[in-house]
Amino acid sequence: MAAKKLLILPGDGIGQEVMVQVRRIIDWMAKKRNIAFDLSEGLIGGSAYDVHGTPLSDETLADAMAADAVLLGAVGGPKWDDLPFESKPERGLLKIRKEMGLFANLRPAVVFDALVDASTLKPDVIAGLDIMIVRELTGGLYFGQPRGIETLPDGQRKGVNTLTYTTGEIQRIGRAAFDLARKRAKRLCSVDKANVLECTVLWREEMIKLQQSEYQDVELSHMYVDNAAMQLVRNPKQFDVMVTENMFGDILSDCAAMLTGSLGMLPSASLGAVDASGRRKALYEPVHGSAPDIAGKDMANPLATILSFAMCLRYSFDMDDEAGLIEAAVKTVLKGGLRTGDIMQPGQAKVSTTVMGESIVRELDKLA
Ligand code: NAD
Repeated sequence: MAAKKLLILPGDGIGQEVMVQVRRIIDWMAKKRNIAFDLSEGLIGGSAYDVHGTPLSDETLADAMAADAVLLGAVGGPKWDDLPFESKPERGLLKIRKEMGLFANLRPAVVFDALVDASTLKPDVIAGLDIMIVRELTGGLYFGQPRGIETLPDGQRKGVNTLTYTTGEIQRIGRAAFDLARKRAKRLCSVDKANVLECTVLWREEMIKLQQSEYQDVELSHMYVDNAAMQLVRNPKQFDVMVTENMFGDILSDCAAMLTGSLGMLPSASLGAVDASGRRKALYEPVHGSAPDIAGKDMANPLATILSFAMCLRYSFDMDDEAGLIEAAVKTVLKGGLRTGDIMQPGQAKVSTTVMGESIVRELDKLA
């Protein structure tokens, strides 16, 4: 089998520390599961600006375009706060997502048994939760034209944004979501506001057409976004996969994330189109930022990034067994009572970033 081309971009702050732990897992997979990785590492964000004068160099972007998958830490920090807008670390992140054409953002919300008390919701509402939100990432209200602020003849000012989707845009995010549902419990809930917004009437029609023509084995339901927000906190376990437009997804995925209670545990994937060679561009990253308040102190929780690598194995490399091994190792280590500061609970053992990473590797050794 050809080696899997994996580009690692640790970025800034705790991004660099958590990625050291992910490298341990990658090494373990290479040695113990005989997976051939073609690994390279690059700079993004503030660390790229310091060396190249830009948060994303053309070379790094070219490497990302050529990779089978990109694994990213986090960018940003106070050191670069006063840079001009175009040079800010976050611009590097937006540019790489845009250039790679990553239109599907996958945000799982999984509650680990050992962390059931970390949520603000009652344990019986969230115990065993495992849902996936698929957010359209390159269209909708955040990109639609016309947009802007204008001054009217009577002196008032008017702000405009436009919600637009073409059938092609709806179908490609729809297929990504249906494919995902097929790998899970085969239930997809499409979230719209078809009672008010024509654009989402089209969204609903296209989802129904797709289901009828290509995905009859997946159960499709529809929900208005306001109800979806309520249902997510009332009874989140009713969902398996949810798919929705950009802004609705932005809000709902953060809401779902907080059901789990901890930023340090949340992975994500962003996927592009399948190209002629059958390869899908993909970028995997934790939801959290560079956490300048704890950077360099060996305190960060590496599990969100480790779980992002598990998503990479599952969605880019079709290695469900290996992804499952990592997820099982995370569950067992948490059950054993090890906690980084962000998920610390009374009676558990507080450990460093390094010890958490080493513990996951030890657990993989036992599981394999
Ligand atoms: P943040 O996610 O970096 O931190 C928020 C809080 O959560 C902090 O108290 C931090 O210590 C804690 N935290 C975050 N991740 C953690 C982890 N893995 N383990 C333990 N604790 C963790 O968000 P912020 O403070 O708003 O932003 C800091 C910087 O990160 C800013 O420059 C911001 O622009 C950038 N940022 C980057 C990304 C990204 O790279 N995707 C995302 C969000 C923010």
